[in-house]
Amino acid sequence: MAKASGEAKLRAEADGCTRCPQLVASRSQVVFASGSIDAELMFVGEAPGATEDREGVPFVGASGRLLDDLLAGIGISRDEVYIANVLKCRPPDNRDPRADEIANCFEYLQRQVEIVEPTVVVTLGNFASKLLRNDDTAISTIRGRPEICQIGARTVWLLPVFHPAAALYRRPNLELLRDDFKLLPLLVSRGAPDQKQAASGSREAAGDAEASARPDSEDDPPQLDLF
Ligand code: SF4
Repeated sequence: MAKASGEAKLRAEADGCTRCPQLVASRSQVVFASGSIDAELMFVGEAPGATEDREGVPFVGASGRLLDDLLAGIGISRDEVYIANVLKCRPPDNRDPRADEIANCFEYLQRQVEIVEPTVVVTLGNFASKLLRNDDTAISTIRGRPEICQIGARTVWLLPVFHPAAALYRRPNLELLRDDFKLLPLLVSRGAPDQKQAASGSREAAGDAEASARPDSEDDPPQLDLF
C-alpha cells in the first residue's frame, strides 16, 4: 500500500510538473509510467514519442508491440513489468532531450526506482544506457552485459539492450535483442544485489554474473551504430 500511495503521489507531482517550459508548452500530457509497481523488472527508455504523448502510456506503437513480443518470448506480460522513460514529456518534433531537461526529470526516475525496488533495470537504447551507467560507451559495445548499478537509493542489476526501434530498423539487431532478453529470467532469479550506500550512477562489473546468466557463451557482438 505504501508503494501504491508513494507512486500515486509521485505521479501526481509529475503530472503537474512545469520544470521544462518548452516541453510543458508542447506536450499533450505527462507520460509517467505503466505496469506493476511490484515488478522485479523495470524498463527505461528515452522519452515519449507522438503516440505515447497522445495516449499517455510509454512504449505503445510499433516499438511497444515489439517490446510486448520480446516479453512474451520469455513468458512475461507487460502487466508484470514497470515501464518508464528518462523524460516524462515528449520533446517537440522528437528532438533529443536537452541536458537541462534530463537534469530536471532525472529525480522522478530515481524516485520511481526507489519506490518500485526492481531487481533488474533494463535500459532500452543508447540514451537511457549512457545516462544510467554514467558512461558514454555505445550500446553496441555494452549490450547484454549485466552490471551492478546504483540508481538513487536502490542497487540493481542493470542490463543495457538495444532499443526496440533499433530492431525494427535493423533486423539483425532483433536476434541480439532476443538473446539479451533471455538473460532476464536468470537475473531476476538471482534476486537484487546487496544494497549499498553508493553515489547514484556508480556501477561495477557483475563479476561472474554475466557468464553465469548467459546460457551459451558467445563471441562479442559486432560493432553496431544504431541506438
Ligand atoms: S520532462 Fe520531466 S521535469 Fe520536464 S516538465 Fe516534464 S515531467 Fe517535468
